[in-house]
Amino acid sequence: MVIGAAAYKTVVGLYQPGSTHMVGDGFPVRNLFPSNDLDRLVDPFLMLDYIGPCSFPPADRPRGVGEHPHRGFETVTILYEGVVAHRDSAGHAGVIGPGDVQWMTAGSGIVHEELHERNWAKRGGTLHAIQLWVNLPKVHKMAAPNYQTIRKEDIPTVELGQGAGPVRVIAGSYGGQRGPARTFTPLDLYDVELAADSRWEPVWPEGHAVSIFVLSGSLSINGVAPAGEAELVVCGRDGSRLLVESREHSRLLVMGGKPIEEPIARYGPFVMNTNAELAEAVRDYQTGRMGHLS
Ligand code: MN
Repeated sequence: MVIGAAAYKTVVGLYQPGSTHMVGDGFPVRNLFPSNDLDRLVDPFLMLDYIGPCSFPPADRPRGVGEHPHRGFETVTILYEGVVAHRDSAGHAGVIGPGDVQWMTAGSGIVHEELHERNWAKRGGTLHAIQLWVNLPKVHKMAAPNYQTIRKEDIPTVELGQGAGPVRVIAGSYGGQRGPARTFTPLDLYDVELAADSRWEPVWPEGHAVSIFVLSGSLSINGVAPAGEAELVVCGRDGSRLLVESREHSRLLVMGGKPIEEPIARYGPFVMNTNAELAEAVRDYQTGRMGHLS
């Protein structure tokens, strides 16, 4: 199907969460990938954990994930409800709340903890978030660790026409606005709300992979069967345009990017290009080369 010069992308598939599990004792997740075997289709994205929404009773000890390492990629945490605290071996610390994003470059190696923020934990409440892992190309896998706290007020919002809704540009660009996240490869990350019965026609550069995760509501993409809560629509690299039509008020996370197209070797919190590099990562962690929390 072609409109003007820009062809619609192919919708490759619609996926439900492939696994449901607890990360540490504070993050109940529904995983969309890698539990669904999508590696090549979602390149440069490696993992999508949908956290909650889940209600926590008041607690004196903050729940979460204690000290653990990462190497070879970036972790991106997008918060919708709740408050999460981060601390790492490179000396960064930060607290993010609703509307904020944490963009951590593990690069050559980092050790961190991700916990419910202490005062929030004492009150209790609803936690609702997404954690994405974004791959790094070989040339940047050993980049210096970094941490970006991206505040809600620093994320530009583009209002779609006819009251269709806001597009918050976290990374990349949309509608003349640039997102604040610094990335190593070209990618776009949007937090989008669409009013009921709205149309949206975003366009990407040729060859980019695009996936849309539906947090709530119901919508169709290029006329393909409705996607609803916690479902992921994966599109091909062909074409450049999508037609998103909402049936109800919907909230989506839109991920687009230039595929890195390198071999992927994974072992738990490490993602490298070869098994030898994974073995080296395990050794470097075990011998303390990724540091410790002070
Ligand atoms: Mn982590």
